[in-house]
Amino acid sequence: MNADRLRQFLEFYQDLGVKSLYRRSAPCAPAVPEASAAAPPQAQPEPPAMELPPLAPSDDTLLQIIEDIGDCKRCRLHEARNKIVFGVGNGQSPLVFVGEGPGADEDAQGIPFVGRAGQLLTQMIEGTARKEGIALARADVYICNVVKCRPPGNRTPEPDEMETCGQFLYRQLSAIRPKAICALGGTAARAVTGHKEGVTKMRGKWFKWRDIPVMVTYHPSYLLRPYNENAKREAWEDLKKVLHFVYD
Ligand code: URA
Repeated sequence: MNADRLRQFLEFYQDLGVKSLYRRSAPCAPAVPEASAAAPPQAQPEPPAMELPPLAPSDDTLLQIIEDIGDCKRCRLHEARNKIVFGVGNGQSPLVFVGEGPGADEDAQGIPFVGRAGQLLTQMIEGTARKEGIALARADVYICNVVKCRPPGNRTPEPDEMETCGQFLYRQLSAIRPKAICALGGTAARAVTGHKEGVTKMRGKWFKWRDIPVMVTYHPSYLLRPYNENAKREAWEDLKKVLHFVYD
């Protein structure tokens, strides 16, 4: 097995939440890359050799992933859901937005970010792009969530729910292979980057998911709160950064 293939395996298992893999001679813990405010960070260190089970298929497609999800009952979130909310937009987009999980409107329609937070996200994407001279509509990007079923009462998804559903998010990201990912809020940021800090520390900085740059910013629901004018300005700055990185 060559080094690239081995790195793919290790990153795949790290993304699935497998924190430690051991070989006979020495334990090996996957490194979490450093964040950077300036530019997308560099590749991760060379991993050791070992035998691992198969990866997701390299010719994976969004259609195949939807089929594999099926009428999913893999975690407790299926119990109260109306619709699985897979993702929406351009499946070949160079930019993917990742939120936390569907709310009531999304659960009813089966489409991510269609409620109040979603309307704000649309305004943020289209308004910021327009002001920056970038021709971009919401339909040009891809939007999805860490978990595909609505957590009851809009609670934060539990770690085991995120781990179970995360495999489908990671397959979506692998299939689309965007130029950049924008993580909306702390839950998405932690799921995509592996970093555990709060969103106020992570926002505005570049991280990586595998070799893809990830910009972290506030979740639109947080920005809807009336006293968050400063956060709105910061989110606008973050979005400008990611839009220019992707579309310049
Ligand atoms: N919040 C999210 O994180 N995702 C949605 O799809 C809607 C609201």
